[in-house]
Amino acid sequence: MQDSRTELSSLGEFGLIDRLTAAVELVNPSSIQGIGDDAAVIDPQGQMQVVTTDMLVEGVHFDLGYVPLKHLGYKAMIVNFSDVYAMNATPKQVTVAIAISNRFSLEAVDELYAGMLTACHAHGVDLVGGDTTSSTSGLVLSITAIGTAKKEDIVYRHGAKEGDLLVVSGDLGGAFMGLQVLEREKAVFKQDPNVQPDLAGFDYILERQLKPEARRDVISMFKEMNLKPTAMIDISDGLASEALHIARRSGLGVKLYEEKFPLDPVTVSTAHDFNLDPTTCALNGGEDYELLFTIAQRDHDKVKGSPHFTIVGHMTDAASGYQLVDRQGGQHPLKAQGWDALLKK
Ligand code: ADP
Ligand code: MG
Repeated sequence: MQDSRTELSSLGEFGLIDRLTAAVELVNPSSIQGIGDDAAVIDPQGQMQVVTTDMLVEGVHFDLGYVPLKHLGYKAMIVNFSDVYAMNATPKQVTVAIAISNRFSLEAVDELYAGMLTACHAHGVDLVGGDTTSSTSGLVLSITAIGTAKKEDIVYRHGAKEGDLLVVSGDLGGAFMGLQVLEREKAVFKQDPNVQPDLAGFDYILERQLKPEARRDVISMFKEMNLKPTAMIDISDGLASEALHIARRSGLGVKLYEEKFPLDPVTVSTAHDFNLDPTTCALNGGEDYELLFTIAQRDHDKVKGSPHFTIVGHMTDAASGYQLVDRQGGQHPLKAQGWDALLKK
């Protein structure tokens, strides 16, 4: 908790903007004009630009009961960078629109910006503008990220071909299990505020939920490996949903193999504690911000044996539909259930 509380009204809108953006330094030569004019000016330097926006609404996308504002700022940036990486592009600039009520202190907003700027610094991204307005109740954050890539390097969702291998980076389901642990401890705390939250042993999955990473390293690896995926998407809504997006956009079917799914041991044991099937968490949990991509079979050797990548399936013809093969070899229709269905089970 903060020791002192400074009311936002004591600064006024311009004072607040000055304060929040005082620490901003531009690092990219493409950022010609940042904060301080009517609009930012960006020089695309002969490259293609990719643009993505994500909005986060208090009570819908985050719960300040257990998400520290610094983490929220960090994550809000990361989810946008992840979308840029999913195009095989590099994020360069962001703008931040924020609606905030007087329930928040200046110290709280400072924390939020500290988190956002930490993420920008880690990914070499310039904060070049935004908008600040008041809100009658909650906090709303809308971030737009701009990235660049050479035209020939951009990877779309629609580029997969029949027979391509479906590959995922990292492991899946952890962020969802982290959220379950946080929700459980919040419920316990509501019953008895004297009980300390029991978060020991859950570090990995809590970090996956509260401080996710966008896979900048994977984009660099592609360059080093001389590998260009045929299609790619980031995993924000779960493996099932994203695999279906690639299949549908590419006009193909897809087959996923349950036994291949990369799961961290903490994800598996926590899922069992909660009477959830770890496979279902990987398929429908979401917020892992890993990359799901397809590669031509001739590129198999490039990912084979890599600790960063797991082949989880392959693309089929459209008539074969969307299939999940279980550990016994049984086939099930692959569906994007989303989180709700998962918890009502
Ligand atoms: P305008 O009235 O033209 O919209 P503003 O007074 O809203 O200008 O913003 C002044 C400058 O501060 C602009 O460069 C704008 O991009 C930047 N800015 C405003 N709010 C934010 C914010 N929350 N974060 C970062 N930059 C901001
Ligand atoms: Mg404005």
